[in-house]
Amino acid sequence: MALDPLSSLLYLVSGVCFIMALRGLSGPETARTGVLYGMGGMAIAIATTFALKSVDGVFLPIVGIMVGGSVGAIIAKKVEMTALPQLMAAFHSLVGLAAVFISLAAFYNPLAYGIGARGTIALNSLIEMGLGAAIGAITFTGSVVAFGKLQGLISGKPMTFAGQHLLNAALGGALLLLLLALCATEWDIVFFAIIAVALVLGITLIVPIGGADMPVIVSMLNSYSGWAAAGIGFTLQNPLLIIVGALVGASGAILSYIMCKGMNRSFLSVLLGGFGGDAATAAAAVGGDKPVKVGSADDAAFILKNASSVIIIPGYGMAVAQAQHALREMADVLKHEGVQVRYAIHPVAGRMPGHMNVLLAEANVPYDEVLELEDINRDFAQTDVAFVIGANDITNPAAKTDPKSPIYGMPILDVEKAKTVLFVKRSLGTGYAGVDNPLFFNDNTMMLLGDAKKMAEDIIKALE
Ligand code: NDP
Repeated sequence: MALDPLSSLLYLVSGVCFIMALRGLSGPETARTGVLYGMGGMAIAIATTFALKSVDGVFLPIVGIMVGGSVGAIIAKKVEMTALPQLMAAFHSLVGLAAVFISLAAFYNPLAYGIGARGTIALNSLIEMGLGAAIGAITFTGSVVAFGKLQGLISGKPMTFAGQHLLNAALGGALLLLLLALCATEWDIVFFAIIAVALVLGITLIVPIGGADMPVIVSMLNSYSGWAAAGIGFTLQNPLLIIVGALVGASGAILSYIMCKGMNRSFLSVLLGGFGGDAATAAAAVGGDKPVKVGSADDAAFILKNASSVIIIPGYGMAVAQAQHALREMADVLKHEGVQVRYAIHPVAGRMPGHMNVLLAEANVPYDEVLELEDINRDFAQTDVAFVIGANDITNPAAKTDPKSPIYGMPILDVEKAKTVLFVKRSLGTGYAGVDNPLFFNDNTMMLLGDAKKMAEDIIKALE
């Protein structure tokens, strides 16, 4: 169905708003404006769609938007920052499910979508709805598994099994054959077989992937949900859905690529899975007989006060402890004493892309003090104190030195090059990838064992 010129123009405006939103969201200073562009674009998109002649009955969609919007708003208000990755995975699963349902609706009522009649659906529409249903089903179960892993309902370790790649290849091949069969026969059973095989493939693709690769998977599923939406856009002949689906699909894919680069892993090796698993050697084995130097908040305050430069390395533990405000206060006191304070952000610190940036921005840390890995890594060698707070994997030198380590090849922050390394964490335990950190046993390391927020507050007291 061709769109009238005004609707086309409004869809174009909305598409431009979404592009501006993506542009704004690429940096902390412009992120708020980006969100506003996104909201504006979505408002135009919804209003234009409701006004389309081909849309009859807006009551149910409005009720749906109100119910869904309210649930979304409540969840967004309540969710802890640390639980955002699994929330994203859960939301992606719904996008996937929606793609499956819309494909089914179009398959059973093609007349309503203007794509032919039952038994004589246009070939291109059959391909689009078959692909949309398949990608949607993979996204659905894949996202549910990712949610389970991130939420700790399923083990985060990769669950590999013999013949796993062969099975995935066989399921992929079966999907292709079924798509061909759907085009040739239009049988219901074939359509349901596509959905069933894709649901299984979503599970078998994500289950073997574990630990440190989860960020890539979350953004890859984000990309899949975008492509599924674009597929539906073709079925519904809605150009805006095609544009938005392609934007989400492409930006998710680019983010996955950037994260793979951040971990020095190939996209294919992430997809093939089995990373971040069986590394759990005992901490003692990593440190040998070397003693661990444990210090107090007073010791830390003394070292920090006498430093001329400090780099703070926040990680997941800072987010768990919600220590960002106390941390900024500590930095303020140090700056007041004439100490240069900067923050080093690893691309996969925390549990979602940009996790640390969001928390530091919330605590009003000036943007110019927050530097990315490639901009600050060289400075550790000329720095007095590396203050690692709730971070672990992103500092682990095993990534550079131990080819057997599951995180081998991941770029890390070279904190050990600083004169003194202070580690704030509760124990000598491992981080997300389950890999012990030999840095805890270094001569220039002092462990500050305790909750990140409490330790930062105690250091402030000691500094004052
Ligand atoms: P890690 O998970 O490696 O380490 C976090 C450390 O924080 C733990 O070792 C834990 O030690 C400590 N910790 C937990 N709670 C507290 C607390 N209340 N106070 C003080 N310390 C605490 O985090 P990193 O940020 O260093 O690395 C991120 C890891 O997560 C990487 O492996 C990355 O691949 C993965 N990941 C990243 C995602 C992303 O998009 N950024 C998404 C999903 C996974 P202890 O128990 O001893 O206190």
